[in-house]
Amino acid sequence: MNWLKRFRSQPSGQCEICGNEYQLELLPLVRGRRGQVEVFFQDLPVLSCGLPGHPRRYVLPDFGVLLIDVVFWKKFVPLGRPGVWALVKCLNCDKNLTKVDEHFGEVAGVLEIKDVPPFGIRIQGPVTTCPRCQTRQLKATKAVGTDVSGSFVEAFKNIQLEP
Ligand SMILES: [Zn+2]
Ligand SMILES: [Zn+2]
Repeated sequence: MNWLKRFRSQPSGQCEICGNEYQLELLPLVRGRRGQVEVFFQDLPVLSCGLPGHPRRYVLPDFGVLLIDVVFWKKFVPLGRPGVWALVKCLNCDKNLTKVDEHFGEVAGVLEIKDVPPFGIRIQGPVTTCPRCQTRQLKATKAVGTDVSGSFVEAFKNIQLEP
């Protein structure tokens, strides 16, 4: 596995406070909430010196950008997308879902980012089912999408995770 080789072969830096070498740590449950959305990460990979209260670091320098990319565009977790004419379109068949009913629910998936151990995500918020192809998905209008990325920020704040 690429990520395992990477973490064994490359030193990942040192904690600025205690000077300990950073190690890969998988956090079993990390959660964050913003607006209509709550997010839960399972086994989130971070770099950590192992001491409580010390900041943790992104597992890759551009982890935040990569996370947004895999959540919104790679279909590991089902999210509708904004369209040119539609507020939100089905991620599978492009049907306009703007006027389709939504209810509070949850979508889940496993995120794969190159050189990083795969980790789980659950997103709670407005969920809808496409009437054409039956794909259940987060009704990610622009406002809901902003809440999704905002909930990531909150989740990272909760564990003192910094770039
Ligand atoms: Zn430390
Ligand atoms: Zn569809």
